[in-house]
Amino acid sequence: MKAAGGKTKGRFPALYVASAVLMFSLVMFAAGLDHRARKQTYIDEHIELLTSRLDATVKSLETFSRYVFEVSVNRPEQLGLVSSAWREHPEARAPYRDRLYELMLPLYERLESFDFRQLHFHFPDSVSFLRMHSPDFFGDDLSGVRESVRLANSELRRVTGFEEGRIFNGYRFVYPLFFENEHCGSVEVSFSMGSFISVLERLSDCAYLFAIKRSLVEATVFEEKQGNYVPSWFSDDYLFDVAIKNRQEDERLFYSMREGIQGLLEAGGDFGVVIRWNHHDYRVLFKSIRNLHGDEVAYLVTCDQDQGYRQLRSDFLSYSAIGTIGYAVLTVLLYLVIRERRKLKLMSTTDALTGLSNRRRFIELTETELGRSRRYGTATALIMLDIDDFKRINDQYGHNQGDVVLRAVARILKESLRVTDELGRWGGEEFIVLLPNTVAAAALSVAGKVVSAVRDSRLGPEASLTISAGVAEYRRPEGMEALVARADAALYQAKSQGKNRAIGSD
Ligand code: GH3
Ligand code: MG
Ligand code: MG
Repeated sequence: MKAAGGKTKGRFPALYVASAVLMFSLVMFAAGLDHRARKQTYIDEHIELLTSRLDATVKSLETFSRYVFEVSVNRPEQLGLVSSAWREHPEARAPYRDRLYELMLPLYERLESFDFRQLHFHFPDSVSFLRMHSPDFFGDDLSGVRESVRLANSELRRVTGFEEGRIFNGYRFVYPLFFENEHCGSVEVSFSMGSFISVLERLSDCAYLFAIKRSLVEATVFEEKQGNYVPSWFSDDYLFDVAIKNRQEDERLFYSMREGIQGLLEAGGDFGVVIRWNHHDYRVLFKSIRNLHGDEVAYLVTCDQDQGYRQLRSDFLSYSAIGTIGYAVLTVLLYLVIRERRKLKLMSTTDALTGLSNRRRFIELTETELGRSRRYGTATALIMLDIDDFKRINDQYGHNQGDVVLRAVARILKESLRVTDELGRWGGEEFIVLLPNTVAAAALSVAGKVVSAVRDSRLGPEASLTISAGVAEYRRPEGMEALVARADAALYQAKSQGKNRAIGSD
C-alpha cells in the first residue's frame, strides 16, 4: 500500500497533463476544422457570385450579338453573296468575298468601337469564307478546330459558348445562314474577351484576368498569331490574352501564390484563395471556363481586397483564445481540486512526522488481515516497538532533535522490514508492525533484527539509541485489542529485562 500510494502520487500530474493536452488538441483540431469549413463556404459564396455575374454578362452580350445579326447580317444581299460563293468553285469565290467585305466594312468598323471582334463567315462545310478582322486568312477548314461552326452547320441551330480559335479565344455566338430556305453557311458575331471583362468590371470593381491553357493555344492558334498571348503570372501552363490589360500592380501578388495554387490548378474546377499581401488580405477567385466539348480550357480570375475574411480570421483567433484560456483555467482548477482531495485523504491515513500509516489506518489494515487469518487459518504476527529512554533525548536536546530521531528510526524500521510487512506509528515513540503469513518464532527473529538495526545505526545525539520489542502471534478467535495487549505485555517484559531486546509473548 505504501509503495503503490507513493507511485500514484508521482504519476498523477503527468497523466493529468497528458489528458489535458490531448483534450486541448482535440478542441483546437475541431476549431480548425470549423474554421476551414467556414472559409470554404465563404469562398464558395464568392465563386457563386462571380458565376452569376459571368452568366449575366454572357446573356447580355448574346442579346446584343443577336440584334446585330438580325438587323445587319441576316439580310438578303449578304446571304445572296454567301450562297453564290458557296455554289462557286473555291478558286472563283474572290469577287463574292471582296463584295461582302465592302458591304460589311462600314458596319464592322462601327462594331469595333463596341468591342466586337469577330464577324466571320463560313460555308456549310465549315471552310472559312471571310474574316472581317483578318480578311487575308480564308479557305481553311475549321471543322476540326471549331466545334461551334461545325455544330451550327450540322445541326442548323444557334450555338453559344467559349471556344478557342485560330486567332482569338472567346465566347462565340454562331448562327446558321439560309438563303431562299437553303442552308448556305454560318456566321459568327462575337465579342473580344476584353469586352466581357469590361462588362464584368462595370458589375464589380475588382481586377479581372483571363488566362487560357498554354497547350491549347499552342495546338490551335496560327503560329504567327501566338504573339497575341503572353505567359500568365500565376502558372507556366496558362497564357494571358495580350488584348486584356491586366493591372500591373497585381503581378507580384500573383507571382507570390504560384506554388500555393499549383495543386489546385492541377485538380481543376473553380477554386479560391485568400492571401496576405502587403498587409492586406486579397481574395483571388478562379472560375473555370469550359469549351463546347466540356473541357476546362481557361480561367477567369478575379482579385480583390478582402474584408470579410479578416472578420472570419479574427473570429477564429478570438474563439481560440477564449477557448484556450477557458480550458487552461478549468484544467488548473480541476487539478487543484483533485490535488486537495488527495492531500486530505493522505492526511487522514498518514502520520505527518514520519510518513508512516497512522494508528487509524493501521487498525484498518490489521482488522482486514486478521479477518483473513480467521477465515483461512493463516498465521499473523504483531510487533510492538518502543524507543528506549526517549524522554531523556527530548529533555537533553530538545523536542526538535527528538523529532529528527523519530524520523530516523522510522526510516531504519522501514528499511529492515519486507514490503509485505505493514509498519505504522502507534503513537509517541511507539511503532507497530503487522507481519502477514508469519508465525511467532519468525516474527521474534524479525523483531530481533529490527532491534539490532536500530542499535547498530548508532543513531541519536550520543550514538547509543536503542529500541525494545514485544512480539505476539494471533490466536483465533481473539480480536485485535487482545493481540495488541499481548504484544504490549511482551514489550513491557523487554523493558523490565533491561530494554534493547525483543521478547515473545507466552
Ligand atoms: P522507556 O524506555 O521506558 O520507553 O522510556 P521513555 O522515556 O522512552 O518513555 P516515556 O513514555 O517516559 O517517554 C516518551 C516520551 O516521548 C515522552 C514524550 O514527550 C515523547 N514524545 C512522544 N511523542 C513525541 C513526538 O512526536 N516528538 C518528540 N520529540 N517527542 C515525543
Ligand atoms: Mg512509550
Ligand atoms: Mg520509550
